[in-house]
Amino acid sequence: MSVVALAGGVGAARFLEGLVQVVPPEELTVIVNTGDDMANFMGLYISPDVDIVTYTLAGIVDHKKGWGIEGDTFHALQALQKLGFDTWFSLGDQDLGTHLARTAMLQQGWSLSKATQAISELLGVRCRIIPMTEQWVPTRIVTDVGLIHFEEYLVKRKAQDAVEDVLFDGIDRTVPSPGVLDALEQAETIVVCPSNPIVSIGPILAVPHIKPGIMKADAVKVAVSPIIGGKPVKGPADKLMEGKGIEVSAVGVAQIYEEFLDIMVIDKEDQHLTPRIEELGMRVVIEQTHMTSMARKKKLAQTVLAAAREQKRKS
Ligand code: GDP
Repeated sequence: MSVVALAGGVGAARFLEGLVQVVPPEELTVIVNTGDDMANFMGLYISPDVDIVTYTLAGIVDHKKGWGIEGDTFHALQALQKLGFDTWFSLGDQDLGTHLARTAMLQQGWSLSKATQAISELLGVRCRIIPMTEQWVPTRIVTDVGLIHFEEYLVKRKAQDAVEDVLFDGIDRTVPSPGVLDALEQAETIVVCPSNPIVSIGPILAVPHIKPGIMKADAVKVAVSPIIGGKPVKGPADKLMEGKGIEVSAVGVAQIYEEFLDIMVIDKEDQHLTPRIEELGMRVVIEQTHMTSMARKKKLAQTVLAAAREQKRKS
């Protein structure tokens, strides 16, 4: 069964750890958000979600933080601090190696997809990871203190500013990376990972041709809610959903994906929301979606695939 997963950072990576246990790697393509990317931070090209997914699937992620490399040291960052630089964006020493490699590849004229594939293969990832687009399309947050890059909003300013709107700067001029539309067309299942629906999945769906590609695809389309009991497990999804005037609940998430979704997987805690989600014209599947152990990650992935198979049989 070929599966395409749309992914942001931490929530998606946790889910994908379970998914790779139940889907053969050659049948899995992960399309990753690049709206968080910084094209020139201390001379480096930073792609936070691509790295979180890559490190997680390579088995080297720092699980406690959800990003970076397990056991990494921070000598380079400390040296920068000593030299008077503002090191609000943390990069460990090994992580810095990845960034130097990616930046060098891009400077040699490689595309972001080619660099992403090379790095993930060299780190031992066996499924395909594709950035949503090759072009740099920074997500900018309209706040009460002005327009700021998403990473600045999240990491530097700790998501403290009131969100008025979210913009995907230049997204109308982008095209999907090579392989994205083919993967969607050939997929039997398209899974929207439990990621921030506004700033992680939002940019992917806003790349021209991707949403129409999903809608056109024969695949069964399933999403896992990142919102449990009216709150995100981690990160500012609630503030961003509120800023966009969307209800912070599994219903709000289902509304965002309403145009194309067949099945919404929600947490047991949110069972009471089932009728409201079904009214949107999709099936609801209940599961324990808080991925606190590997067993739960695998079970959630199995539930998603079983629901997709059942839907296919019925149609
Ligand atoms: P950001 O950190 O908000 O930019 O977004 P990411 O897409 O990188 O990942 C965070 C999202 O993953 C949040 O909306 C979380 O609620 C969700 N998430 C993290 N862990 C879990 C989990 O165990 N279960 C579920 N259902 N969602 C999760």
